[in-house]
Amino acid sequence: MAGADVCPEQTTTATSRTAEIFKSFKEFEETKSRLEEGTCTKYNGIHKEADFGKENIQPSTEKRMYFHLTGVPFDGSPFQLVGTKVYECHLGKDRNAAAKDKYHAQRQAQSLEDHAFQARRCSVQTTKKMNCPVQFTVYHIIKFPDDKFKIDKDTDARRRKASKDLKKAIDQKPSSVQATVQFHTCFPTLTEHKNHPTVGEVAELREGVDERVKGRIRTLALNGVKDIREMRRHLDAYVNDDLFKEQDLPPTTRRRYNPTDKDIRNNMDKSKDRIKNSKEDQCNVQVMCNRLQSYIITVDVKCKN
Ligand SMILES: [Zn+2]
Repeated sequence: MAGADVCPEQTTTATSRTAEIFKSFKEFEETKSRLEEGTCTKYNGIHKEADFGKENIQPSTEKRMYFHLTGVPFDGSPFQLVGTKVYECHLGKDRNAAAKDKYHAQRQAQSLEDHAFQARRCSVQTTKKMNCPVQFTVYHIIKFPDDKFKIDKDTDARRRKASKDLKKAIDQKPSSVQATVQFHTCFPTLTEHKNHPTVGEVAELREGVDERVKGRIRTLALNGVKDIREMRRHLDAYVNDDLFKEQDLPPTTRRRYNPTDKDIRNNMDKSKDRIKNSKEDQCNVQVMCNRLQSYIITVDVKCKN
């Protein structure tokens, strides 16, 4: 579980986290997007438990009943944990640092050994990551709000009795048990971010690119746009005419809507990889078809003999 995930008492000050509850994962994601948009931040999912976010997860007599967790405050009603998902600041830890170091060392060695080898570019900074420690966890739970199972005091004996009664009810007649899906989290505050600015133009320049803009780059690349300048013209039109239609335009320093050439290139490359993978899939299907065909012929010949 995330070490930095602290969920204090509910509060409205900007220096400590506030517990928030959502009825669905979609509702959580919409709020997260609005928060990122309004604070020039971006949070990426780094770990997810298997059932997290799945719909139609049913209450189970096999699963543990909780009354509170680090990120789910006590309100008297029992609940079961479906799963958790951990997010971190997009300027967090560089998780590919070892692989990148190995790659750069190999290229360096190759350039020393082979004089004809041309190092493509010398980059002082190989990553945007700033080792920012900010993380937060989302808890997907099934809450049982029925007063029958509610406890007024958080004691071992009351928890045990309510859990036993509830499991018995689930076992005997599951449809009679009220169950509500909830997503709990505490979004981080700006003051928690370290090693990078969170306000002003520098923060805007370090922002992650908007998912809709990324999607647009990939679609345009799939439709044949290969030139960065042409891509930028299309993106300007998309931001001005679609995303911010009849609204004030964002400042051009906001990387979220005005990605760098490298951002554009990276996303164009990703759509190329997708095409390559789908072509490889087609080849695999062709090979399988040929094999199947020869197998059918062999079986047919054997049967006739
Ligand atoms: Zn950060």
